[in-house]
Amino acid sequence: MSDYDYDLFVIGGGSGGVRAARVAAGEAGAKVALAEADRYGGTCVIRGCVPKKLMVFASEFSDMPMTGRAYGWDIKDGTFDWPMFRDHLNSELDRLEGVYRSLLDGSGVEMFDARARLKEAHTVELSTGETKTAKTILIATGGHPVRPDIPNADLGIVSDDIFHLEALPKSILIVGGGYIACEFACIMNGLGVEVTQYYRGAQILRGFDEEARGLVAEAMRARGINLFVGTNIVEMAPAGEDHTASWTGTSSDAAMGASATQTAELVKSTQEDRRGPIWVKSTNGGEKVFDMVLFATGRDPNTKDMGLEDAGVEIGRRGEIVVDNYSKTAVDNIYAIGDVTNRVNLTPVAIREGMAFVETAMKGNPTPVDHELIPSAIFTQPEMGTVGLSEEDARDQEEIEVYCTSFRPMKTAFAGQSDRVLMKLVVSKETRKVLGCHIVAPDAGEMIQLAGVAIKMGATKEDFDRTVAVHPTMSEEIVTMRSPVRTV
Ligand code: NDP
Repeated sequence: MSDYDYDLFVIGGGSGGVRAARVAAGEAGAKVALAEADRYGGTCVIRGCVPKKLMVFASEFSDMPMTGRAYGWDIKDGTFDWPMFRDHLNSELDRLEGVYRSLLDGSGVEMFDARARLKEAHTVELSTGETKTAKTILIATGGHPVRPDIPNADLGIVSDDIFHLEALPKSILIVGGGYIACEFACIMNGLGVEVTQYYRGAQILRGFDEEARGLVAEAMRARGINLFVGTNIVEMAPAGEDHTASWTGTSSDAAMGASATQTAELVKSTQEDRRGPIWVKSTNGGEKVFDMVLFATGRDPNTKDMGLEDAGVEIGRRGEIVVDNYSKTAVDNIYAIGDVTNRVNLTPVAIREGMAFVETAMKGNPTPVDHELIPSAIFTQPEMGTVGLSEEDARDQEEIEVYCTSFRPMKTAFAGQSDRVLMKLVVSKETRKVLGCHIVAPDAGEMIQLAGVAIKMGATKEDFDRTVAVHPTMSEEIVTMRSPVRTV
């Protein structure tokens, strides 16, 4: 008989925490409890991947009338009904949250709808006032979006807010050049919002293959996104008399003297009234007014006020929980998985870390987490799918051959559109192994999943070559590139 209330107490009901709790209870037969302060499903389900992808789908319909007409359909351009879509989206999220709760319930996990913090290494204190003890504690509290440290930054929204807007803005400034900034720039553009994006660096999507991110940036501009690189926001304030007078851009009806009714609409269009049209000054000296500013400037781990340091858990420079390869913290019985550890901040990685934790800590089968060759996708338009090393990282490591092709895909070329796709393989000259694969194309996320299997298995370029093409598809090019475009 254990001296503790539970074998395992999980703090955080997102993708990682829920999976670990379910598997520990279901497969390892452990007595498990889980505390979640907000909604079950966490960032991915409630305010991340899932609602974002549904918004991607919504935004992609804007191209369809034009393409459809080229294929003989009599389709008129339509209008987008944001309130209808948003309410449908939110009811879908309610449904999914219910699924998460019933999965936990069905596995016998006891749920506490409360905030939890560590009281000491084996004791958790809940916001309800209760304390619970556990042999093992797993922290899976995720992260939260952060705004830059400039005055009035709270006038801007963050990605959490976007799924609840009363109305879509007419114009938006998106600050940042990472996944979230680029995805929402494309989504908002597709939904008919005038999008401006400021990125402080030389090219968006830092760290990804240069050729691939170059094509994404080009496609975003071609679709009408006003993308400024080497540009950041330096000042912002509610747009008032003074600021609208000095407005120098072309962006907002509000700035050009919208009627009182329109202005009232715009003010209503954000969650808080004080977030009406916003005057912004940028590093290049330009001043503009936008109906909304979205900060997509990164995420920090949720480790504040959790009693972690007092319990002996080590916290890193970005506020992340420091863990070893087995997701164990500096305290023997406390583990942490997912974004709170700031390793690779992706849902499927958090799930993997949760499964490896259960093997290690609950089943006595030490299992390190494998963070090698993780495929991922950026849901821009077109999407980018990527696995392995970029050309730049690979050539720093060894001599490589680069196989690359860029072309107009059949479907949109037929409709007279100029969209281009890119297929690229980075190959080790010595071992012939494919070190990296980068695809920019519609549905690149679907393609890279399968390329990822081959590359994880250690496929060589010759393995790709002897695979018969599926014709006619875009992805057949990945197995038909005969000669390297360069050896570096
Ligand atoms: P990222 O860290 O990817 O990007 C943050 C961006 O903000 C960078 O371009 C960064 O610039 C910029 N930035 C940071 N601080 C400032 C500042 N003070 N002023 C101006 N710009 C700033 O974070 P995201 O929020 O986009 O995404 C967080 C994580 O979520 C990602 O790393 C990813 O792991 C995950 N995610 C995955 C998705 C997917 O798989 N499709 C989708 C969405 C999120 P710089 O490059 O110069 O540092």
